Amino acid sequence: MSDVVAVAEHRRGELRAVSLELITAGRDLADHTGGRLHVAVVGGDVDAYADSLSCEGVDVVHTIDEGEEFNHDIYVQTLTQLATDLDPQVLLVPHTVNGMDYAPALATALDRPLVTDAVALEYADHLTATRELYGGKVEGTIEVGADRALVTVRPAEWPAATGTGDASIESFEATIDESAVGSTVTGFDEVAGGDVDISEADLLVSVGRGIDEEENLPLVEELAEVTGATISASRPIVDNGWLPKNRQVGQSGKTVAPDVYIAIGISGAVQHVAGMKGADTIIAINTDPDAPIFDVADYGIVGDLFEVVPELTAHFE
Ligand SMILES: Cc1cc2nc3c(=O)[nH]c(=O)nc-3n(C[C@H](O)[C@H](O)[C@H](O)COP(=O)(O)OP(=O)(O)OC[C@H]3O[C@@H](n4cnc5c(N)ncnc54)[C@H](O)[C@@H]3O)c2cc1C
Repeated sequence: MSDVVAVAEHRRGELRAVSLELITAGRDLADHTGGRLHVAVVGGDVDAYADSLSCEGVDVVHTIDEGEEFNHDIYVQTLTQLATDLDPQVLLVPHTVNGMDYAPALATALDRPLVTDAVALEYADHLTATRELYGGKVEGTIEVGADRALVTVRPAEWPAATGTGDASIESFEATIDESAVGSTVTGFDEVAGGDVDISEADLLVSVGRGIDEEENLPLVEELAEVTGATISASRPIVDNGWLPKNRQVGQSGKTVAPDVYIAIGISGAVQHVAGMKGADTIIAINTDPDAPIFDVADYGIVGDLFEVVPELTAHFE
């Protein structure tokens, strides 16, 4: 079989955007392997998710009605059984906190090689995956010798699948060995500011060390407020404790893919760019015309943020 299976992800009742990105990556692969594209969704409101996952290019959506939220053991058991049945050539899992949790165990259970954090995939007569190395400074190409593989796919690298297709929706009955389920989700405790998920925002106003002092942050907050944007930041702002960790964009923060990303006083270090280069439109404001952020920006304003940002705020008010 030369099929491809993409595993969807959901959290607290919402299908996550990465699920649709995996469909794009999976469809492209399946076109090259000559197989069908299956999508699997485990737990939660599987029927509603199945409708949203029936995008153009999807052949079958497999719903596995086990549990409400993510559970490592349930995912490993159910997906092992589904993948054993379907025997796909490539199994795609999101490179997210959840995906990183169960992908290694799934690869072990299925006795497949695992490639993590792929940013590009190709298939000629074998699978080739690209991943970033040394903090995004170089790209490595992984030639997968085995004819079966599991790959975790970095969010925001592929466009989200769109359109409604005519996928068949099939319920997969897995057998759960309860004695091997070692944990139960009993509830959620929000961390401070945990309600904000910058990876889901359409418009991000992102602030960097150019802001100089914590007392200057309201300048950027005002722009965010009048534009309806969410605030994110580069790492120094988070390291200084001026904004919480969940606002950090980049290699050791979150990967984001908004429609518009406004980088204010951010130099554009590779570790930062790794997390935001998937934005549709990047606007950079920086005093330094040679700042690397301008290499990835669609629009650049060479200027002092203390002059430019208030003008932008006034414009949108
Ligand atoms: C392993 C590792 C992981 C990392 N992970 C991350 C990560 O996830 N995210 C991240 O962001 N970084 C990360 N970093 C840090 C990264 O290397 C950079 O140090 C960081 O991104 C720099 O942040 P910055 O652009 O805000 O600051 P700087 O590099 O100091 O840039 C500040 C910019 O502001 C401009 N500026 C100054 N004053 C003004 C003004 N008045 N108006 C307009 N512009 C002005 C300057 O010209 C400059 O370009 C990581 C580093 C390592 C080693």
